[in-house]
Amino acid sequence: MLIILLGPPGAGKGTQAEKIVEKFSLVYIATGDILRKAVKEGSTLGRKAREYMDQGQLVPDNLVVEIVRDRLMEPDCVNGALLDGFPRTVDQAVFLEQVLPDIETQVDRVLLIEVDENELIERLTGRRVCGDCGASFHVKYKPPRVRNVCDQCGGDLYQRDDDSLATVTERLEVYKNQTEPLVEFYEGRGVLEKIDGNQDIDDVSDQINSALEKL
Ligand code: ADP
Ligand code: AMP
Repeated sequence: MLIILLGPPGAGKGTQAEKIVEKFSLVYIATGDILRKAVKEGSTLGRKAREYMDQGQLVPDNLVVEIVRDRLMEPDCVNGALLDGFPRTVDQAVFLEQVLPDIETQVDRVLLIEVDENELIERLTGRRVCGDCGASFHVKYKPPRVRNVCDQCGGDLYQRDDDSLATVTERLEVYKNQTEPLVEFYEGRGVLEKIDGNQDIDDVSDQINSALEKL
């Protein structure tokens, strides 16, 4: 089973992914997390990706598709995976369709989480992320029990460099121009399901669970 989480930055994909992987026993693949780890480690991939990420631009397709293909080929993905932040361009989606037969799987559902733009800005600029386990919090909407400390692992929380107001604005623009065409692409494949992401975290989760239980 392959599920894709689609939606603008800040829509709540990572927040919902945590709940989905637990409930449906899927392997979680978030290209943003993989790229941030590469940047932190200073690997060749990280050095190439950094300049794009800092500016809120997409990392070139050829770098990203290799990562996803290799990860999907790993044995733990045999029972299914949840993709977050990939594909982000139509070319990436076409690439994904080409590699799926090799692992005998298909895209079962694309969950499009829709959120109003003002709310996205509020969510992104208030987001705090755990430097150790990647869990995400929000200063107002999902505050940790202890200020700047991760509820799950006790790690320190930090603000992502690309969650500054200037970069957020750029990322939302990039989403509209380069990623939104995927809505039509997956509508055409008959697998798109729209989720109202303006609701509370638990209500969004309920809507997602109903969509996935139908599968
Ligand atoms: P994405 O992975 O789509 O970029 P996140 O899951 O990291 O988005 O969520 C962005 C921010 O918004 C985080 O700080 C998160 O705690 C908060 N958030 C997520 N879902 C909701 C929601 N339904 N209502 C309010 N805040 C939310
Ligand atoms: P995210 O954590 O999903 O918000 O991604 C953070 C940043 O990583 C994005 O702004 C891009 O620079 C880069 N990135 C993540 N996924 C992709 C992708 N599929 N294609 C290109 N760039 C990506």
